[in-house]
Amino acid sequence: AKLTADDVRSLAKELGVKFIRLQFTDIFGILKNVAITVEQLGKALEGELMFDGSSIDGFVRIEESDMYLRPDPATFTVFPWRPREGGMVARLICDIYKSDGSPFTGDPRNVLRRAIQEAGEMGYTMNVGPEMEFFLFHMDSQGKPSTTTHDRAGYFDLAPVDLGEGARRDMVLILEQMGFEIEASHHEVGSGQHEIDFKYSDALDIADKIVTFKFVVRTTAQRHGLHATFMPKPIYGMAGSGMHTNQSLMKNDENAFYDPTSPDGLSRECKYYVGGLMSHAKAITAITNPAVNSYKRLVSGFEAPVYIAWSGQNRSPLIRIPAKRGMSTRIEFRSPDPSCNPYLALAVCLKAGIDGIKNKIEPPAPCDRNIYEMTMIERERLGIGSLPESLQEAIKELEKDQVIKEALGDHVFHRFIEAKKIEWDRYRIQVHPWETEEYLAKY
Ligand code: ADP
Ligand code: MG
Ligand code: MG
Ligand code: MG
Ligand code: MG
Repeated sequence: AKLTADDVRSLAKELGVKFIRLQFTDIFGILKNVAITVEQLGKALEGELMFDGSSIDGFVRIEESDMYLRPDPATFTVFPWRPREGGMVARLICDIYKSDGSPFTGDPRNVLRRAIQEAGEMGYTMNVGPEMEFFLFHMDSQGKPSTTTHDRAGYFDLAPVDLGEGARRDMVLILEQMGFEIEASHHEVGSGQHEIDFKYSDALDIADKIVTFKFVVRTTAQRHGLHATFMPKPIYGMAGSGMHTNQSLMKNDENAFYDPTSPDGLSRECKYYVGGLMSHAKAITAITNPAVNSYKRLVSGFEAPVYIAWSGQNRSPLIRIPAKRGMSTRIEFRSPDPSCNPYLALAVCLKAGIDGIKNKIEPPAPCDRNIYEMTMIERERLGIGSLPESLQEAIKELEKDQVIKEALGDHVFHRFIEAKKIEWDRYRIQVHPWETEEYLAKY
């Protein structure tokens, strides 16, 4: 059962909580904190705590800056790594309201709530299971993060080569104490790269958990003298970090993607959901892969998707349907990376899938061959398109997609695009090391 405000009040007392962090994210998914003492908890739970929204990136202008935080009692948890002496530290994730009492449409959590609501009106609940990948790097002598790893482990390798293992074990323990059900944790293909998977849950719970996860992983790495990064592609020539997003819909307590009577065990809804995701995939990429660097991951050769296709067999397409059926029937959306804002990412996926169901968007035939081995002509004949190749291209696609625009709402849509255009421009005018290497001597 979900915690209520009363539960939070008594738990805080019972656990000896002294400080509470009220958390929310800006439109880029960066975690923000307003720290209060336990004496202010009552007032906070009543939604009476105000903050200045104009200080947050992509939020509001000065003249409309008074915002209210409404903590969601279900998100109450303590930070188990904090010493108990002097009082525990806890946190609550908040929804943001305007001074007139209406929800703030620029709040990413509100964007996801709106998509969940729309699906809910059709009887659907979204379940999500993310696969979180990240790198653990060493600090340099100045205490700055570097890209060096001392481990030489590969996929699933065991100690003693895996130096990050101790840190990862600690992360898993802490996450478990914070209510995560960890399903797997292993070394990934890249040296210094790790993956931790936790059990699927409803979309809002998972978006909250992703934000918490990143925070815990970073903090724990730091205590082990390491730097954890969710940068999508930290090292050229090595696999990048993804956030495969497993998705399914529930209806009347059953998995709506499962149909035991169809030859492949998949329901019409599942197919239409895939059709919807595929037809909006280009615009969605701007949200699920929001960094300049995201597009260095979406290249061939590292199991990251490049082409807009789906399959039940191989791991090269954008959407894979794992073989499990029954309650585990799901689609695996393979493009997202962990630099995305999870609230926005899940909102646009759900919106696209629901659009597919509403408009009965048939997906193309599944593609069970390795697309990377096809020629351009073969791909064209099969109608297999590509994901955007750069942030700039993705933003252009986002600007054209009315359904995704509606999912984000005007506020987030415009602020996001505005900020990403500036980010792209800052990158575009740089002279990169590759260019000097390539041209300095040549011309
Ligand atoms: P992979 O085989 O791609 O490595 P993993 O085993 O690492 O997949 O992760 C699978 C994820 O899918 C887990 O987070 C799991 O909880 C989640 N999952 C399982 N069933 C469902 C479902 N019905 N809906 C959404 N996610 C699910
Ligand atoms: Mg996995
Ligand atoms: Mg697995
Ligand atoms: Mg993986
Ligand atoms: Mg996967």
